[in-house]
Amino acid sequence: MALWRPAYVGLGSNLDDPRAQVNAACAHLARLPLTCLVLASPLYGSRPLGPIAQPDFVNAVAGLLTRLESQALLAELQAIEAALGRPPQHERWGPRIIDLDLLCYARERRSGPRLTLPHPGIPERNFVLYPLADIAPDLDLPGLGRVAELAGRLPAEGLTRL
Ligand code: ATP
Ligand code: CA
Ligand code: CA
Repeated sequence: MALWRPAYVGLGSNLDDPRAQVNAACAHLARLPLTCLVLASPLYGSRPLGPIAQPDFVNAVAGLLTRLESQALLAELQAIEAALGRPPQHERWGPRIIDLDLLCYARERRSGPRLTLPHPGIPERNFVLYPLADIAPDLDLPGLGRVAELAGRLPAEGLTRL
């Protein structure tokens, strides 16, 4: 039997009532097989990243314990995105009904097109690090460092606690 492992998921939405989408995604996370939803951060509002003009985001981070392997967990996250109506083909960094990123999975470090762990965007994203610091300030992200320290280096620019 696989061990229970901690995993953290970043949630984001900027379409079709983003708060409701993030809450719906949390409800899906709570029903995942072989997985317990342990903690969810407060919701944050954030300005969109990248070159595309689009509505502001609602973001949060969830903490899980899971017996799924990392790739299987990512597949479950993608199934939740599809269930909430995110089309399979979409613009990277464009507007989206829901985005679920696997931020980190136990002590796993890997790099690849389908799955990179920890998620490479973490160090420069206050909308990930601030909510993550709310629920796991002492978490040591493999290769990156302690969450509270990483968050402390980033200004809260563009971010509001909802
Ligand atoms: P970003 O990953 O920079 O936040 P994004 O969330 O907009 O951008 P998506 O279009 O949702 O990017 O995903 C693109 C691909 O990223 C997916 O096909 C997925 O396989 C891959 N991917 C790699 N590592 C991860 C990870 N840790 N979590 C989620 N997806 C990942
Ligand atoms: Ca993302
Ligand atoms: Ca994503």
